[in-house]
Amino acid sequence: MDPVTEALDDLHRRISPLKDGEVATYIPQLAHADPDDFGIALTSMAGHRYQAGSADTPFSIQSVSKPFVYALALTDLGPEEMLRRVGAEPSGEAFNAISLEEDTGRPANPMINAGAIATTALVEAPDPAARFARILDCLSAFAGRRLDHDEDVYASEAETGDRNRALAYLMRSAGSLEGDPHTVTDTYFRQCSVRVTAADLAVMAATLAKGGLNPVTGARVVTQDVAVRTLAIMATCGMYDGAGQWLLNVGLPAKSGVSGGLIAVSPGRFGVAIYSPPLDAEGNSVRGVVALTAVSARFQLHLMHAP
Ligand code: GLU
Repeated sequence: MDPVTEALDDLHRRISPLKDGEVATYIPQLAHADPDDFGIALTSMAGHRYQAGSADTPFSIQSVSKPFVYALALTDLGPEEMLRRVGAEPSGEAFNAISLEEDTGRPANPMINAGAIATTALVEAPDPAARFARILDCLSAFAGRRLDHDEDVYASEAETGDRNRALAYLMRSAGSLEGDPHTVTDTYFRQCSVRVTAADLAVMAATLAKGGLNPVTGARVVTQDVAVRTLAIMATCGMYDGAGQWLLNVGLPAKSGVSGGLIAVSPGRFGVAIYSPPLDAEGNSVRGVVALTAVSARFQLHLMHAP
């Protein structure tokens, strides 16, 4: 067995017995997740793929979609206009908080729901179906394979997503969201329901690690500048309310989601992804945080660590 697979297997074996955390239930369909599912995947800059555990189990991407859709909107709008529309400051509040600037209504950052919904609305398209098609194309290009969405998860969130709709209406009244809030959140719910595996997420993370170039397909998905800005946002805002501690302890740009997905990027080295549904109090995958803390320490991956 190659040394990377061996290391992932070892990590998987050591962390599997950890039973802390709760599976998210506020989107009813997510409550069906198996808390014992645990997959780890890693993609290198040469496009080599490694994995351990249930890395091929499909799940809905949820908030892990946010950095990738941000990269798409950023490509459409350019950095100045993007920043004028959606901020880049950690909010210090929950992912579904009403984090809008008082005078402009601008959402704090694109990793919390308000900012992510505004970002989805900024993806250029003639109509909502075309907007979702562009989002799905983009996520698929990052993953290096054709993705689809989970209709049951989408319907479940659309049925219960009033808070996100309320956020969208608030943004429209504050002047920071264009378009119909109901339609925009519908596209956002579809985006969150896109089906991926940990193996897919590792390729997506590796594409950011390689400056926007997919190391498996060789396709340029976004520019180096867009990848750098996306990683910077992930570093400061990617881990919900645990972002500061994460940067302290792990030191890598990352993004987690309520379904238990977690990606981390070691720029110029690799992308890594975890799937394990039980979440900690901050909403991050318990096994994911433990696994990536261990990986970062063992291989001295902290961004602030001098080589
Ligand atoms: N679709 C979820 C929501 O908006 C995503 C949340 C998350 O993964 O943080 O509530």
